[in-house]
Amino acid sequence: MTGTFRAIRVSKGEKAPQVEFANLTEADLMEGDVTVAVDYSTVNYKDGLALTGAAPIIRNWPLIPGIDFSGKVEKSDNPNFKPGERVVLNGYGVGEGHNGGYAQKARVKGDWLVKLPEAISNEHAMAIGTAGYTSMLCILALEKNGVTPDKGDVLVTGAAGGVGSVAIAILAKLGYRVIASTGRASEADYLKGLGAAEIIDRGELSGPAKPLGKERWAAAVDCVGSHTLANVLSMTKYGGTVAACGLAQGLDLPGSVAPFILRGITLAGIDSVMAPMAKRVEAWKRLATDLDMKKLDAMSVRAKLDDVPKLGQEIIAGQVRGRVIVDVNA
Ligand code: NDP
Repeated sequence: MTGTFRAIRVSKGEKAPQVEFANLTEADLMEGDVTVAVDYSTVNYKDGLALTGAAPIIRNWPLIPGIDFSGKVEKSDNPNFKPGERVVLNGYGVGEGHNGGYAQKARVKGDWLVKLPEAISNEHAMAIGTAGYTSMLCILALEKNGVTPDKGDVLVTGAAGGVGSVAIAILAKLGYRVIASTGRASEADYLKGLGAAEIIDRGELSGPAKPLGKERWAAAVDCVGSHTLANVLSMTKYGGTVAACGLAQGLDLPGSVAPFILRGITLAGIDSVMAPMAKRVEAWKRLATDLDMKKLDAMSVRAKLDDVPKLGQEIIAGQVRGRVIVDVNA
């Protein structure tokens, strides 16, 4: 129908959110000074939480979920953007409080948009998605704290997931020796193909942590939290850094201060949602040069808007490998 566009809309349900496909008009969109013709979105862990109601992510009902998208500017009242420009959006509460990426159209604040580097297509931007952009934020934090390849191995937990897969590919390209921790032994070849030198079973890290363990890695990107993060910290070499971005095992951190006060470990917290614009631009610029797009293709599968509800359940069950590109116009 003219003037309408397709979207997923989630309403508050008795037990779980009600997910429906709807034909909407621009009147259904929220405030913003830039309208974007959305090309692609993706399925991040947080999208899974929003779609299934496994955690109270959505703050405004009904809402179009989808915490990220790539597309082309269609209309702009913002002096920094003009029609036709290719843009990406990650976070800022989109898909949580503001209508998100699971739609053919989005209206947002221009201040939330990043212009895509030439080397990253709109499709690759969502193969990267918020998961991959968060991986880059983690690696920037390690670099800021002086982690260089000669310092020792870098551990990535939740390795076969989205953040983990992209982190492995980037770290390997930058010359780090990467240890991948996974619960999916069957994905060992996949992880080695991305650049992991060694695979460990996540069971080694998922039980209660000792205050200090044997020093095993110089740094880590942790997607898992809880006991896993406590173990990761307790086994990080003197002076090392751990970038903590995820909670796949849990929100808690049942550890001790021993790694901080006896080994001078730094725990770097990573938030992608409200990260300042300068950091976003830096992360996307680095993704253009430090992520091998062939490896990105190897870790990505394509999906349609129709597949999103099922993928939301699968990502929460830990069944999604790597990254999913959602073509909202397919
Ligand atoms: P995925 O679901 O793709 O990856 C998570 C991975 O964690 C799984 O693939 C699995 O890896 C591992 N995992 C799952 N459950 C458990 C468990 N119970 N114990 C140990 N490991 C487990 O999600 P994403 O990669 O998109 O996100 C990863 C984490 O990072 C999530 O918690 C997400 O919320 C968070 N995140 C945070 C951001 C921020 O701004 N701080 C931004 C983006 C994501 P394997 O099968 O290899 O064991």
